[in-house]
Amino acid sequence: MQIYIHIPFCERKCNYCDFLSAPADPHVREMYVNALMREIRGRAGSVGREDAITTIYIGGGTPSTLSAKQLGDIFATVSQEYRVAPDAEVTVEVNPKSADRDMLHFLRGIGFNRLSIGMQSMHRSELELLGRIHTPEDFEACFDNARRAGFKNISVDVMTAIPGQNEHMLEQTMQKVISLNPEHVSTYSLIIERGTPFFEQFGDVEGPVVGEETERKLYWMTVDMLKSNGYRHYEISNFAKPGHESVHNTGYWKRKYYLGMGLGASSCLPAAGGDERCSNTKDLEKYLANPLTREESSILSRKDMIEETMYLGLRMMEGVDTDAFEKQFGVTVRSIYGDVIDDLVAQGLVYEGASSLTLTDMGIDYGNYVFAKFLR
Ligand code: SF4
Repeated sequence: MQIYIHIPFCERKCNYCDFLSAPADPHVREMYVNALMREIRGRAGSVGREDAITTIYIGGGTPSTLSAKQLGDIFATVSQEYRVAPDAEVTVEVNPKSADRDMLHFLRGIGFNRLSIGMQSMHRSELELLGRIHTPEDFEACFDNARRAGFKNISVDVMTAIPGQNEHMLEQTMQKVISLNPEHVSTYSLIIERGTPFFEQFGDVEGPVVGEETERKLYWMTVDMLKSNGYRHYEISNFAKPGHESVHNTGYWKRKYYLGMGLGASSCLPAAGGDERCSNTKDLEKYLANPLTREESSILSRKDMIEETMYLGLRMMEGVDTDAFEKQFGVTVRSIYGDVIDDLVAQGLVYEGASSLTLTDMGIDYGNYVFAKFLR
């Protein structure tokens, strides 16, 4: 079982962001942490003590808007109430501006062993355009402080397809990232989301603002640079030094069970008749009043689970394990998707191995088209 904890606060909203996050004053943050700890305690009974917690991921929002003590209290509550595996991967997302040296030392000292730093770009102009609160210098200081604090597993987020970005600018950002030698890099192409300042500025653009062709060029440039510097491309948008793939996110792609806690957090839990997908309220007032109320809950059908196994598995470069699929569902992938696979192979979008189905490079470029083919 994996645990995800959502911290829905940020110092300021970024111009492209439609995540469930907002600025909040210290009093609200304190009330939230108290409600969250009530939820953590209240849900402990739903996870058997024999079911070890293999990963804990505190994300957001910006978890580092909380104090080190608040983050420590949350972690301590999880550790007291659940059986956390001794080698569990424990990640916290931080913003370079708000995670200072003392906080990083404290977090490492109490057992956080993985850090995810939201860098996005090493160009001040791009960070300003995105509305980020930090500068390139803040990121470098944060990375250095994290290393000094003893973090040996650091992930860095990079944003690509930023309006106005060209290959040279991204190359400079990637060179800087690579020179720091983080264990893990996640890259995301900027998409304009409704309801964000960027939507007002750029309008209802289909696809990336920089254009599809440039976006693909930028993507493949990051792939090439990271691969030639020792990173394994293990998921469409994720790269790791050998042995440093994100255990938590790999769990999502492999459909492992997870318990999500905090505002709007969703869970996938074992249940009679199929997996249960449920989520918490997105309304902060309601959450503070009763953090144990589920807003939505449904039992996934066998068809839902099969479809998820296909499109999530294809996101990983190792692809869908067709032997494991047959073991789980009692039928072969081919017996359900034989015609789809033949078409996609003929189009050069997937590769069918002896016991796997993977995207080709062209399949990565047309990922959404391929995934849709597995929805029946
Ligand atoms: S820091 Fe992250 S979650 Fe917060 S507003 Fe920016 S993109 Fe959104």
